Amino acid sequence: MQIHYSLLLLISTLLLNISCKKPVHDAPEKGVSFALNELRKKTIDSIQYVIELDIPAKKSETIRGKETVSFHLNSLDQPVVLDFSNDSSFIFSVKSAGKDISYSFVNEHIVIDADDLVKGKNEISIEFTAGNLSLNRSDEFLYTLFVPDRASTCFPLFDQPNLKASYTLTLKTPSGWEAVSNGALKSKSRESGKNIYHFEKTKPISSYLFAFSAGKFFKVIKSVGGRAMTMYYRETDTVKVSRNRDEIFELHAKALNWLEDYTAIKYPFGKFDFVLLPSFQYGGMEHPGSIFYNESSLFLDENASVNKKMARASVIAHESAHMWFGDLVTMDWFNDVWLKEVFANFMAAKIVHPNFPEINHNLRFLLAHYPAAYEVDRTAGTNPVLQELGNLKNAGTLYGAIIYQKAPIVMRQLEKKIGEKLMQESLGEYLKTYAFGNARWDDLINIIDRKTPLDIADWSNVWVKTAGMPEYDESRVKNIISIQQKKDAVSDRIWQQSLNVKWKEDMVYQNRILNLTDSKPGFINANSSAFNFPNADGVGYGYFKMDSVSKNYFIRNYNIKTDSVSSDPVFRGAMLVNIWEGFVRGEGFSPEIFVMNIADILPKEENPLLVDYLLGNLQTTWWAFLPTKNRAIHQQKMEKLLWDLLKTTKDKGIKTSYFRAFKNIAITPDALKKLTALWDGSLVVKDLVLAEDDNISLAYEIALKGSGDPKAVLEKQLSKTKNPDRKLRMEFVIPALSNVESERDAFFESLKKPENREKEAWVLDAVGYLNHPLREKSAIKYLRPSLDMLQEIQLTGDIFFPTRWLHSTFSGHSDKAAADIANAFLKENPDYPFYLKNKVLQATDMLDRAVKLKK
Ligand SMILES: [Zn+2]
Repeated sequence: MQIHYSLLLLISTLLLNISCKKPVHDAPEKGVSFALNELRKKTIDSIQYVIELDIPAKKSETIRGKETVSFHLNSLDQPVVLDFSNDSSFIFSVKSAGKDISYSFVNEHIVIDADDLVKGKNEISIEFTAGNLSLNRSDEFLYTLFVPDRASTCFPLFDQPNLKASYTLTLKTPSGWEAVSNGALKSKSRESGKNIYHFEKTKPISSYLFAFSAGKFFKVIKSVGGRAMTMYYRETDTVKVSRNRDEIFELHAKALNWLEDYTAIKYPFGKFDFVLLPSFQYGGMEHPGSIFYNESSLFLDENASVNKKMARASVIAHESAHMWFGDLVTMDWFNDVWLKEVFANFMAAKIVHPNFPEINHNLRFLLAHYPAAYEVDRTAGTNPVLQELGNLKNAGTLYGAIIYQKAPIVMRQLEKKIGEKLMQESLGEYLKTYAFGNARWDDLINIIDRKTPLDIADWSNVWVKTAGMPEYDESRVKNIISIQQKKDAVSDRIWQQSLNVKWKEDMVYQNRILNLTDSKPGFINANSSAFNFPNADGVGYGYFKMDSVSKNYFIRNYNIKTDSVSSDPVFRGAMLVNIWEGFVRGEGFSPEIFVMNIADILPKEENPLLVDYLLGNLQTTWWAFLPTKNRAIHQQKMEKLLWDLLKTTKDKGIKTSYFRAFKNIAITPDALKKLTALWDGSLVVKDLVLAEDDNISLAYEIALKGSGDPKAVLEKQLSKTKNPDRKLRMEFVIPALSNVESERDAFFESLKKPENREKEAWVLDAVGYLNHPLREKSAIKYLRPSLDMLQEIQLTGDIFFPTRWLHSTFSGHSDKAAADIANAFLKENPDYPFYLKNKVLQATDMLDRAVKLKK
């Protein structure tokens, strides 16, 4: 290749110009950009924070703070940028090596010029007001929640996970308050009526894991097997506390011991405490040495179900596992956030499941992960497990079904592929190599790759780094059935996996594992009339096409007690998932036949998880796929079926499921009469317990579908509702149920103001009713403005809100006109942010499929 001479000259002049001048520094953008992250990682290390915060008794008063950040700097080419997500009035002074310096405050960053710094050790001292945003202050206590990039809302720091630092914290609190943080308590003293808590310097930890809580707490100290732990809590019901206390300590001790054994690494952070907080945002948060939990998920009621008990054991095991996976070794950048979550769940399952033999863990895993993962992965808007992240402030856009549901499936595949022993060895080496540091997914893959002849990097490139799911075709020639991955639309990807195939010939089941590692098909020798059931154990991931004869055989012989295969709930679940995938792809039953098939098998199903799965598919098909005139044909039959099952089923959980499905599809005067009688209490179904929420939703359905005056029903329900939060929520939702179109329009108009969208769960309820399938025609005009609002919604709302907003909006629509609006919107906005575009494609996928199938 030759480059034209004049062009070469131009390039060299440009290069000369750049190298002669001092580099020009762009102002740092808001948040932490990937470039800033990289620059700081290259130039700054050995960071220590010494922080002192003075917490006043009144939550309306501000918290004053001072801190000294010391760090080693290896280059003076660039200014040093600290993150502080407040305005400049929150800063009182900035000193370097004890001298006041002039700094600039740009886009929520403190920018310190290189002239005020030295190569080597620097000490910056800052006095400031702590921002309240992530301090969760209430009158009697406060607690921090700094994940993913919220530490910088409280105090200035380098707020990125790969700049681990030690924190030495001093808290001044009102008298009578306890205080807890990552470090052990070094000393407690009193000074002018306040408590002073000095905490020991922590081990190196990431900024999102630094935490403290202070307030009026009870505490219990207990030692289990030589391990001392302290529990802080707020619950005042002493019977409840004493009923749960010992078990909570035992579960922690057990989890920590198990993890020390598995990883061959002792608990890395010295002391171990946990704080139980009322209405904590998550189940738990893994701050090293000081885990925070939602109090209600640990203090269980007297008659807690097995599921509740398992959920408690799981959250404790999950957060404990994070001490190693996430805290000791931390992701380098937040795009790998999925990894620590998958590891924590993976370990929690190993720790907890053997103690709950009464639960079918394989079926739970199948139904909790595969359908939700496919719902995103089959769309044009899907994303890989490992995503790009340009700026930490957008970390919220990474979350979704691919991280929560697909990633655990992929990790399970990896363990199956390499074996449990090699998995344990590799994880142990990974933890030892990167202890108190950071690592990427690829670092783990490299460790595994060295230990096995298999090409794990190749496997990872497809399963983790690319989006989408494989599809498999079946073909028959004479006495051979072959199963083969369809040619991939994106590239020549091969989705390596093992596939469990069952087939039935001459009334006998046979089984075979096909290792699908290249483009060649797997073969089964079976006679041409054999029934074939691909992915029989539900472990394989993808769309496994079933032939119609085998599908019909499965439906006709559903859950036969004397048949060991058809009576296995995991097998039934796996086949139902196959059939649903075929259906939504237009390669299966027509909507009408599909609905009739579900009606046939529902009475034969007694497993609550499978009943829920079937009812979910039924309702989606009913409203989205079944043309209105066909719905009318089946209306009475379906209402009767669901009502009969509701009345006859013994299981209380399943009864509730049938009640909700009946309520959802009920529309005839007779069915509405039943709903009304249930609602006003004149009809009681044995063992059907209706909570206040159920009564509210009954009122909503009656108002929406009934011929009477909706206002009367809703007002009556409003006056019956006791819980003040639910009352306010109802008042908000009611206008969306109005039978006057202009009132609904006015309500939708009001949602354009951000302050009317603050209670996001309320908004989603209301938007769902505005766009209910029965109001589809009048609601079509809301679609375009709803899309136009999406970017603003992303800026003003919680991380999950954009996706949920889209789903609530589009879930009631199945007309071509609605699909056209979404398509036109994307066409007219070619530069739309790609992650939001993907969310639109994900949310409208089912609509597109319904339009196609109804043609
Ligand atoms: Zn977690």
